[in-house]
Amino acid sequence: MSQNVFDVAKERFFRYTEKLQLNQRYPGASMPEHLTEPDRSIETRISLKRDDGSVLVCRGYRVQFNDDRGPYKGGIRFHPAVSLNEVKALAFWMYMKTALLDIPFGGAKGGVAVDYPSLSLAEKERLTKRYATILVDVIGSERDIPAPDVNTSSQEMAWIMDAWRMIHGRYQRGIVTGKPVTMGGSVGRDTATGRGVVFCIEEAADVIGLDLTHSAAAVQGFGNVGSASARFLAELGVRVVAVSDVHGAVRNLQGLDVPELLRHTRAGGAVSEFPEGEACDRESIFAEDVDILVPAALENAITAENADSIKARLIAEGANGPTTIEGAHILRSKGKTVLPDILCNAGGVTVSYFEWVQNRQEFYWDEAKVDEELKRLMVRSCRQVFAEAQRHDCCLREAAYRIAISRVAEAAVGRGVQ
Ligand code: GLU
Repeated sequence: MSQNVFDVAKERFFRYTEKLQLNQRYPGASMPEHLTEPDRSIETRISLKRDDGSVLVCRGYRVQFNDDRGPYKGGIRFHPAVSLNEVKALAFWMYMKTALLDIPFGGAKGGVAVDYPSLSLAEKERLTKRYATILVDVIGSERDIPAPDVNTSSQEMAWIMDAWRMIHGRYQRGIVTGKPVTMGGSVGRDTATGRGVVFCIEEAADVIGLDLTHSAAAVQGFGNVGSASARFLAELGVRVVAVSDVHGAVRNLQGLDVPELLRHTRAGGAVSEFPEGEACDRESIFAEDVDILVPAALENAITAENADSIKARLIAEGANGPTTIEGAHILRSKGKTVLPDILCNAGGVTVSYFEWVQNRQEFYWDEAKVDEELKRLMVRSCRQVFAEAQRHDCCLREAAYRIAISRVAEAAVGRGVQ
């Protein structure tokens, strides 16, 4: 039987932190256990009254993994594949991400196992508010701050904020991030993850000597992260030759017109129906003859089955956990540069942090300031990860884990582990 995603995430943690010798460094603190057991896991039934009067029963989750460095922070995903183990793994990676970017949060994640896109707008609102009502006493701007993730956006954040307001009778803007700008959201939050992915790609391109204006890219997934990554890559002069979504893929060797493709998908079209390209198989995205590959969909996309076919020199993990341990091993043996998820997709939570800061001050930044600060933090972390990898002759993922885990362990010991 295949291992669950959380067990695999822990295995990776133990492998990458072995050389940190946490037990020797912090005798008696049981640090590896402290860092791999979630603080609190909530699993709950959510009954949704459908528009036709029937009731749909779903499972909902929130895992608050670690708050040694600050309040729990992490997105909420609504997807049929959501499970307690998946949410634990995602929450685990969240606290590493906030530590790596050195922003003052811990890590959490939530989700509901539901075919969310098939619900009506009214059903979506009822489901989101029901979920928020269940969590109302465990979330808060100094407790646990949700944000968008797969299939959730500023609309869901507005509903969560409203559910909280209805119960507590007052506003708390910092309760969620990724809200609509009209309700205290930050400009630039919706495209922040994609922007961050591209800032990392620029840094890596410098290190490995890749000329971006003569490069081609393929992007797997055309949701929030994939579409923004494709857009910013194209703006830099990278030829985005192939893009995939849940239905299929599209290829144009001259380079896809990404703004046109975005208009097409926003109007409800699948990428494979885009007229200015050739429709192709969804799986073929991995084997495209490109320099850069951005996996920007779900976990376990790059595996032992397809890693060998990857031609890209640079793999930028826009998704969380897109590469399996075996997949990563193959990429490493072929000398590929892999920008690990906890670094590469951290732009979203970084601008979430800026949103939270703006909410605390009730003073709002313009987009130029958001992008400038995002670039500063992403570039700083990229350089730290590259330097750590060089210092210890290890891969970028191990380097990222070393930095993140050292910071969290220091904070845990500082406040006294109990
Ligand atoms: N869901 C995003 C992530 O996986 C963003 C989380 C946040 O902004 O809190 O990083």
